[in-house]
Amino acid sequence: MIQKKICLLGASSVGKTSLVKQYVQGIFSEKYLTTIGVKIDKKTITIENDEVQFMLWDMEGNDSYNVFQERYLRGASGYIIVVDQTRSSSLLEGIDINTLARQVTDCPAILAVNKSDLPATWHLDNSENEAYKNLFDLQFSTSAKTGANVEEMFLTLAKLLLRCTNDDITTK
Ligand code: GDP
Ligand code: MG
Repeated sequence: MIQKKICLLGASSVGKTSLVKQYVQGIFSEKYLTTIGVKIDKKTITIENDEVQFMLWDMEGNDSYNVFQERYLRGASGYIIVVDQTRSSSLLEGIDINTLARQVTDCPAILAVNKSDLPATWHLDNSENEAYKNLFDLQFSTSAKTGANVEEMFLTLAKLLLRCTNDDITTK
């Protein structure tokens, strides 16, 4: 079994905790509970003959996010920047957080534009889309509420990480 640490990052209340809950437990709650500190959930999936155990690190949204990056991201195989499609400021915060994360890791990164079940108040225009293609390995439009694209996002990430792991082995 291959263990992969994945960190959820992003502004507060974009849906980090809800995405993990939807993915691991298949449930959604409208109730807003701030995550205190770090919570680690585990989920194992099988891809072809490989078992991948995700360790999903979910941290409380924090305005002074620069203080935790290094410790939180240590040993991560990937991270997900979550933004909220009903709040454009969450994109700016997400991009800032990504810049900080990039100072400590070069692991694969995903941009999850969450709350796709709600009307969007902002869109990425073509030039932004191009720019973000370079910043992120993958982009998904997700809903922690309906579950849209949640499994797909983690499955695609697992496949990408397996490919990286296999590349490591074959180049050794
Ligand atoms: P976090 O601070 O990033 O962990 O955000 P939470 O997961 O706690 O979610 C913040 C609020 O947004 C909660 O009220 C959730 O119910 C709500 N929420 C999260 N994801 C979605 C989503 O995909 N759709 C909708 N409609 N609400 C969501
Ligand atoms: Mg949370």
